[in-house]
Amino acid sequence: MKDTQKYTPMMQQYLRIKEDYADAIVFFRLGDFYEMFFDDAIVASKVLEIALTSRDAGEKVPMCGIPYHASKVYIQKLIQKGFKIAIAEQVTEPGKGLVERQVVKFITPGMILEDGILDASSYNFIGAIYQTEYGYILSYADISTGDTFLLDGLNKDNLLSEVKNLNIREIILKNLSDKQLMNFFKNENIVVSEFKNDEIIYQPLLKNLNEKVQKEAASLLLNYLFEESKQELRHLLPFTETKIKNFMHLDHHVLEHLELVESMSGNPKSTLLYWLDQTKTAMGSRLLRYFLTHPLTDIKEIESRLNYIEAFQIYEPRQALEDALREVYDINRLVGRIASLNANARDLVQLKNTLKQVPKIKEALNSYQHPLLDELNHSMDNHDTLFELLDNALKEDVPISVKEGGMIKEGFNQELDELRMLSEHGESWLNDYLETQKELTGIKNLKIGYNRVFGYFIEVSKGNIPLIKDEYGYIRKQTLANNERYITEELKTYEDKILNAKAKAEKLEYDIFVELRNETNQNLSSLLALSQNIAKIDTFLSLAKVADMYRYVRPRFNQHHYVEIESARHPVVERHVEFVSNHITMKPNEIFILTGPNMSGKSTYMRMFAIMVVMAQTGMFVPASKADLPIYDAIFTRIGSSDDIAGGKSTFMVEMVEANEALQHATSKSLILFDEIGRGTATYDGMALAQGMIEYIHNDIKAQTLFSTHYHELTKLSEELEHVTNLHVKAKENKDQMVFLYQIERGPSDKSYGIQVAALANLPEKIIKRSKQILKILEKESQYNQVDLFTLMEEPEIEYLIPNDVKQLIEEISNIDTDQMTPIDALIKLKYLQNLLKKK
Ligand code: ADP
Repeated sequence: MKDTQKYTPMMQQYLRIKEDYADAIVFFRLGDFYEMFFDDAIVASKVLEIALTSRDAGEKVPMCGIPYHASKVYIQKLIQKGFKIAIAEQVTEPGKGLVERQVVKFITPGMILEDGILDASSYNFIGAIYQTEYGYILSYADISTGDTFLLDGLNKDNLLSEVKNLNIREIILKNLSDKQLMNFFKNENIVVSEFKNDEIIYQPLLKNLNEKVQKEAASLLLNYLFEESKQELRHLLPFTETKIKNFMHLDHHVLEHLELVESMSGNPKSTLLYWLDQTKTAMGSRLLRYFLTHPLTDIKEIESRLNYIEAFQIYEPRQALEDALREVYDINRLVGRIASLNANARDLVQLKNTLKQVPKIKEALNSYQHPLLDELNHSMDNHDTLFELLDNALKEDVPISVKEGGMIKEGFNQELDELRMLSEHGESWLNDYLETQKELTGIKNLKIGYNRVFGYFIEVSKGNIPLIKDEYGYIRKQTLANNERYITEELKTYEDKILNAKAKAEKLEYDIFVELRNETNQNLSSLLALSQNIAKIDTFLSLAKVADMYRYVRPRFNQHHYVEIESARHPVVERHVEFVSNHITMKPNEIFILTGPNMSGKSTYMRMFAIMVVMAQTGMFVPASKADLPIYDAIFTRIGSSDDIAGGKSTFMVEMVEANEALQHATSKSLILFDEIGRGTATYDGMALAQGMIEYIHNDIKAQTLFSTHYHELTKLSEELEHVTNLHVKAKENKDQMVFLYQIERGPSDKSYGIQVAALANLPEKIIKRSKQILKILEKESQYNQVDLFTLMEEPEIEYLIPNDVKQLIEEISNIDTDQMTPIDALIKLKYLQNLLKKK
């Protein structure tokens, strides 16, 4: 605790506020700036790259500041780094004594309503984790859109995967200090807050939840939001429980490895979402992202989505529908700002312009003449009354401020029109008055000015003062060096009218704005429903368009766990290279052992299969000419080498941890992809582990599995294990050059071609040659006994391995002095060398 007495009263006020917001950066409003002090200033100046100064507040304290009108970018930067921000505004008028300040907004990564800070195409979730006797409940919400969700019955793995897959930015906990969870949050840069109040208060928002614990879990989140955000959150929708078993389990590495929505390299073009997202609205693109990270297991729901896509495949009305959607603003976030009283007139204008599109959307939907779309059409309300109200009231081009007028159209409110007339008329009255005074006094340079202290005045330059006569009624008000200022009775009367009229008009405009806002608030739930419908239309339309553009087909599903995909393509790789398609046929419980040279397309094949499954179960069309698939309950992957050095794990350890998740949780209905398991350790270790895992999956889990490997020895397993099938990627060796064919065929590959691939990478010739020699010996030796790579490494120098006769040949050649030879001599020498070889 700081000894506050030594500081100025203002700094004492700051410290009182800071005490309540110790873990946040306090933005302290001072005139046109937000100032930060002490440690906040030191930290923020670094993060925001602004100057650190100091202020004398009884003693010197560190300070930095940002202009309040440009605060958004700074808030965004801090929030992105995981800071919380408390905004302390001046709540009394400046002038008399110390201005009072209060925290009016508390912004954390999960509690953002401001326009322009959030990414339009993704949700910004805040979640609360609630521990029950049988697991965890995760409730989460996006307060900018009003969406709320609850997932019950999660185990710790489900929980971590969901937090990661939903990209939850902030977590609220009650009495929970699980070390694994905490480490996870820390690594993922998620802000964690402890909160106690789970009292059930907001009944209407909990009405769809059945269990008391669920209500308490959701209340923990709600109470935090209502208490801490200091915002009106009337737009929050009632929680709905989504059942975890309705979703395919996507382990959190899967999203990363398959690059569904985010790329590992940071290149957005390597994500699936990039190529699928043809949506025109923010709501649509958020929904598409959500779909893609939450594939379903319920075949009815999947088929229903596929039906929508099929309905939207008719081409003609597409353009009109897209044109209308393009003009639609982010309804959820507009409504969020309107309901939380953060909106300005621009938000209302955007809402109005959005509503203007609804009849066009409905008309376009109508022309599809499809029962499914007709049904959707019927459930969409035009909001005619609200549109007309906003359209009649609001100008198209309105200012940001709601207190300075300029928002309301002429003809909407009679009183406003009169006040405006008066204030405008006042201006012209002033001009007339100026002219009459000039004439009256004969002073050509007489002026009328205005200042805040005594309003309008007449200004006369020094030399002309004698021309002012008493009968003019001029009352002297101020004497300056070069002129004299006067007021008159008449001027004051008009001043009252003019100034009042302007202020009154501004006040009235604000009142009308508030009325419009309230009226809009009456329509919150139907506006949110409209938004949901538009999101759906936009998403399915986008998917139908993509399916046409890229020749995707509707997948079919079977109950027998068969996979039959013809001409399968990888939806992302095929956008970058000429893609060689492959068939995938897989029986129940089958395990593919996939061998082939590096770079021949093994990972691409495996990823392609998994992505195809995700797309199909999301309810999308898939890149193939025909696809018949089972419904998988989960996908587990161990692909590529994602080191977790920050988390203190080596590549091999990460590999084992990820493999373990599959081995612990996969069922016979899951899909497992293991890419080169066991590479991070010694050959025999790795091979033994790989074999052990394959046997375990084969005998115990029975999940369909794709296992790519370098260990050719593993291909022998197909002889012993019934469900193991060897596949290899075809490659041709053309005069020591590798040619990749990218065709997957049955049977093991003959060799790994590692050295040829290294040659393609232009490794020094010497290394390639030497490696080939070593390989030959290794292959020869391994036919008789176990290879000991370590003793091999200690083999003597290269000369030792070259047979003596070859050595003699080399010596002969290197001793030739070509400078001293005639062409005939050279031919004779060549003949001699040939003879030497023939003797061998
Ligand atoms: P591996 O896993 O065998 O080392 P990858 O799957 O990483 O090989 O493939 C290497 C590269 O080959 C890919 O980046 C892609 O450019 C290309 N490739 C893979 N499969 C195909 C295919 N079926 N058709 C065309 N190019 C492909």
